[in-house]
Amino acid sequence: MNVTSKLLSVFKVDKQFRGLRSRLSAAEKFLAEQNRQIEQINAKKSSLEAQQRQLAAAAANFEGEVKRLDARMATIREQMNSAQTNKEYKAFLTEVNTIKAERDRQETSALEQMGKVEEVKRQIDELEKSRAERERMQAVAVSDRDQRAAEIKDKLADLQNQRDTLARDIPKDTLVLFERLVQTRGDEAMAHIEEADRRRHEYHCGSCMMALPIEAVNGLLVSGKLTRCASCQCILYIDEELAKSMKEPAGKR
Ligand SMILES: [Zn+2]
Repeated sequence: MNVTSKLLSVFKVDKQFRGLRSRLSAAEKFLAEQNRQIEQINAKKSSLEAQQRQLAAAAANFEGEVKRLDARMATIREQMNSAQTNKEYKAFLTEVNTIKAERDRQETSALEQMGKVEEVKRQIDELEKSRAERERMQAVAVSDRDQRAAEIKDKLADLQNQRDTLARDIPKDTLVLFERLVQTRGDEAMAHIEEADRRRHEYHCGSCMMALPIEAVNGLLVSGKLTRCASCQCILYIDEELAKSMKEPAGKR
């Protein structure tokens, strides 16, 4: 095997490796999104609960005031019964009416606050429902992630072994160059040569479509020596099928 074929084998194994990993990454990303949304719901819920406590405390204050005014009115009514003069009686009556008006205002405020407490409670119930729903999705996401991780575990180890074996056979500097290209170009680190017109010697890079000199194509065909596209820098190779047909005598085609 020449160096380009060896690199191509490593490239194909790497591609499978990345493909398997990316399915797992997608599952991990989905799970992270569920976790994020649950945290968001929890934060919103705590804020609503704090609001609920404040409103309930305000309602209790108004209710306390109502009770205090009721007690005060009861006392005055007793005093009214023992009023000595009509003038005294009227004075008590005026006071009772004033307190009664104030008591009604306090009661209205208490009811208003309690209404708000109910509204906040309704919002909290809604949040709990959507959290329960989200937690079901989170559970699905966890099992999906675990299942995918388990599915690919052996395959990844197997691919790693294959790669180690293949890589051992490639010159160190070539491998470093190749790995650097994979880092920057991923699946475009290597590209096949495309044939546009054999008679006119027109070939181009399968990645960037730039025309390639016929010497480069011939070099690859004959010795499989390391050949890079001058334009996009990828490492070039010739598909088995194309190589086979290019090696056939012209008359046979
Ligand atoms: Zn190119």
